[in-house]
Amino acid sequence: MKVEGFTFHMEEENIDDMYIRAVQEEYTKIDESWLKLHYKTSVILVIFSLMVEIVMGIILVHSDLLTTTVYRYFLKFLIIPSSVNFICIAAETLIMKSKCLSQSHKIYFVSLIFVGIGFVIFTVHSTFTATYYIFAIAIMLTAIYADYRVTCITAGTSLGSIISSELFIKWDADKVSIFENTHRMGDFLISLFVLTAFSIACMAVIRFERRKNSAGIQKEIERRLLQQSVHTDEMTGIYNRKAFRDELKFAEDTASDRNYILAIVDIDRFKSINDTWGHHVGDRCLIEFAKILKEFHGDMTPFRYGGDEFCLLFRDKTMEEAVSICEKIQVRLNHLFFEDYPKLMLTASFGLAAISDQVDTVRLFIHADRALYEAKKVRNAIHVF
Ligand code: GH3
Ligand code: MG
Repeated sequence: MKVEGFTFHMEEENIDDMYIRAVQEEYTKIDESWLKLHYKTSVILVIFSLMVEIVMGIILVHSDLLTTTVYRYFLKFLIIPSSVNFICIAAETLIMKSKCLSQSHKIYFVSLIFVGIGFVIFTVHSTFTATYYIFAIAIMLTAIYADYRVTCITAGTSLGSIISSELFIKWDADKVSIFENTHRMGDFLISLFVLTAFSIACMAVIRFERRKNSAGIQKEIERRLLQQSVHTDEMTGIYNRKAFRDELKFAEDTASDRNYILAIVDIDRFKSINDTWGHHVGDRCLIEFAKILKEFHGDMTPFRYGGDEFCLLFRDKTMEEAVSICEKIQVRLNHLFFEDYPKLMLTASFGLAAISDQVDTVRLFIHADRALYEAKKVRNAIHVF
């Protein structure tokens, strides 16, 4: 989450994992839309084949080319296959609407039902060998999921459908067995070869698609890490001055919709901590102080402005709430104990100001700084402009 535009706010979480998860969610959404299209394609295929069948039937009846009775023709080529196909569509619709099945299960079912519809159309019309192209569509539609297994299973089932239909089913009385006609045998073998080659091509597409995706993810992770490092204070791990400036700009743009309060916090007598215990202890104080601020990052966003000065940006909080959070930070500071330096105590002073119609972000900062100046007169104090 940005302190609205930033996404690198979760310091504890591994940004790689975080981003990969976000990308995977994005992919799942794309798969979901494709699955809907996949399902719709199978519905269109069934309706289209029904319409072609009706038109063919009418033409054959009118041109006296029917080799069987009209009743038998409509029963064999229209009513039975269309009924089976509509049952397939009904099952597919139920699967698509199911809340129990996972998306990956739905993908398997829809892919296989598509093959089933192809099997019906191919078996009924096996005199037209070109209908095996329907299986090519079934395989191709799975390639978008970039899942080898789905495409492999769809391809295997498609080849199995062609083989079993040609060897064991004779739906059309005019159908000549592939063993009785060399042309038919040739078409059969070519269809198997073409579909196998097509499946291999789909696998290659999936492989390259996956490589492209992971390269894209890698580049995006690098870009985000770079962005993160540009906006992060190296020592304390919280946002730095640049992030603060960007955020103030954002606050200015959204000030009409949101309520902003700024607190500038400065550690008291930090110079003397450095002088007494050394700079390395001073650094540790800054790190511990930032850790305490991070504990409250659900309520506000902390930034290290520079040196021992920090800025806290509160969004949609009342001044009372902001002051109360600052008090809690003070309490946490009072309880901070350095085992190696038991005498070392940290306190800080807070200056708060609120943005308003009359107060832009430049004035907001000036007001908070003035409030801090007042707080510094007594130290370990909270002052509101
Ligand atoms: P006051 O209560 O008025 O704030 O007194 P102070 O001593 O804290 O005065 P000031 O805030 O002006 O001092 C800031 C000091 O912080 C000055 C500088 O030496 C020290 N400092 C700035 N950056 C770092 C840092 O990264 N590490 C350490 N150890 N010290 C730093
Ligand atoms: Mg100070």
